[in-house]
Amino acid sequence: MSLTGNNFAADLEGDQALAERFAELVSRYPEKRAALIPALHAVQEKLGWLPDEAVAFVAKRFDTTPADVLSVVTFYDMFHREPRGRHDVEVCRNLACRARGGDQVVSRLEKKLGIQCGGTTPDGEFSLGTFECLGGCTEAPVMAVDWRYYRNVDAAKAERIIDEIRAGRAPAQEPRGEEPDCPAALAGHEIYLTKRMRERGQGERLEVGLDDYLDSGGYDALKKALAMERDAVIEVVKASGLRGRGGAGFPCGVKWGFMPKTPKGPHYLAINADESEPGTCKDRLLMERDPHCLIEGAAISAYAIRAETVYVYVRGEYLYPAETLERAIAEARARGFLGENVLGSGVKVEMYVHRGAGAYICGEETALMESLEGKRGHPRPKPPFPAQAGLWQRPTTVNNVETICNVPYIVLQGAAWYRTMGTEKSPGNLLYAVAGRVKRPGIYELPLGTTARRLIEECAGGMQDGCRLIGFNPGGASTGFLRPEHLDVPLDHESLRSVKTMLGTGGITVVDEAFGLVPAVETFVRFFEHETCGQCAPCREGCAWASKLVSRFRDGTARLDDLDVMLDALEHAVGRTICVYPEALAGPVRLGVENFREDFARLVKNKAAAEKPASSQEA
Ligand code: SF4
Repeated sequence: MSLTGNNFAADLEGDQALAERFAELVSRYPEKRAALIPALHAVQEKLGWLPDEAVAFVAKRFDTTPADVLSVVTFYDMFHREPRGRHDVEVCRNLACRARGGDQVVSRLEKKLGIQCGGTTPDGEFSLGTFECLGGCTEAPVMAVDWRYYRNVDAAKAERIIDEIRAGRAPAQEPRGEEPDCPAALAGHEIYLTKRMRERGQGERLEVGLDDYLDSGGYDALKKALAMERDAVIEVVKASGLRGRGGAGFPCGVKWGFMPKTPKGPHYLAINADESEPGTCKDRLLMERDPHCLIEGAAISAYAIRAETVYVYVRGEYLYPAETLERAIAEARARGFLGENVLGSGVKVEMYVHRGAGAYICGEETALMESLEGKRGHPRPKPPFPAQAGLWQRPTTVNNVETICNVPYIVLQGAAWYRTMGTEKSPGNLLYAVAGRVKRPGIYELPLGTTARRLIEECAGGMQDGCRLIGFNPGGASTGFLRPEHLDVPLDHESLRSVKTMLGTGGITVVDEAFGLVPAVETFVRFFEHETCGQCAPCREGCAWASKLVSRFRDGTARLDDLDVMLDALEHAVGRTICVYPEALAGPVRLGVENFREDFARLVKNKAAAEKPASSQEA
């Protein structure tokens, strides 16, 4: 709810609960500044936006200047500098949601509320906006009201939600629905990451509670790890071949091995839950349904790398997963699985949730650390690498949520067991998300190396009736688009190189003929343009140029050589910037142009044909 016309300064100064909240937030970090973004969230929750008085108030509390605070506020999409409606309605505008009717949801809401996107109703009740990927691709279209998610929304459901809120009956938020079962053809594969949540997820939340977690062997791996030498835990994970599940696929045990063995000060584990890449929504499933698995994995990992503090950097939009995890952490602490003396071992592991505020670049590990320290999410030059100088210049390991959730199973059942699944160089299971116009979108746990055909046709039931697959995105926006003849390429780190892409996060989004490949490429290019941090001119300008050029194919003003100019703009940026962001866009654009040049060309030709005078067409 936005407050206007108030004496904000007096309101904030006199709020004892807010002062206590600030103090609690500050206590989580070694440096006060790191609590800045959570503190801004707290102030915005109270006022609905961040007027100048709020910025000045926060600046004073954090011993800095309003200009400094403002530089942070303006970096993140979730912070508002203008008053908003009492309810903030956001509809996802990325590929999976658009393919399943997200644009129509937005149009209906504009009509229903009598405002355009970006506006606020005259009664101050609703603000309407669109948001880059909300992380609900398998339950698309997704709509959020005050960051409470609603899934599989169509125009009628969106209207109903608005009516309910207007009538004072805010509908309950919708946690993730039941994931579809894998068909019998795949039932022979062992599953472990989703087994517990399928068998023991309870209540509306379908969440595995602590007692159920313990009853099914939960925290046994932590007990086992604490009885081992720290380096022995690292060796087991190394031997398992576990590779990072955040996109790059770097071997987890090797990464842990970079951490110093004799700490001369604090070490940190930062868990990357900033799942913001379009097509990717599997970490949200793990946090919502089986939070203790993540906590157990985090405690083991922290022990192994000699870290006493774990921060889980959760993307700001994931309010519900963040709350779920906070609650589970409190339970784990109360039962001795976290804290000063974990299970009486003398080992200390504290764990905190840190919410971001809407910036895809914060999924890059050094940007994540900057953001966690309370700054703009600007990637840092490497070297130094995080294991040398990470959070607060101390040795730090950054691991993805799914990576960490694999750890308890590996410790308990051993590296040899783990290597019975997947391929030699990409062992284990992966949470593949299948989205777009398939019959059963969902998250399917299958061995690495499973083909997209199997996932799309057998697991997801094939395309919806009347839809024809013309391409697919194999692992999130930065992996580009493959053609139907690539459906039988195994989805693992090595095999995908043969078709000039990579596994990414395993989030597969199909593109159907009605949606079109060029609009799909445009959706991703626009996403990258929106999300560049803007530090480096070649990246900033290259993304803007690519976005401008690709949009010409939509509005009919493109020339065919615009494709080469677009590629040139991006490839010119590669290697000339602080982080690899330009590669993350150049790769998929190159792939799109190579694999689907005729789709782009058709739009140019169509326009040329349309512009011919009638007499020449007849001739
Ligand atoms: Fe930011 Fe792009 Fe430079 Fe990376 S390459 S630091 S995203 S401007």
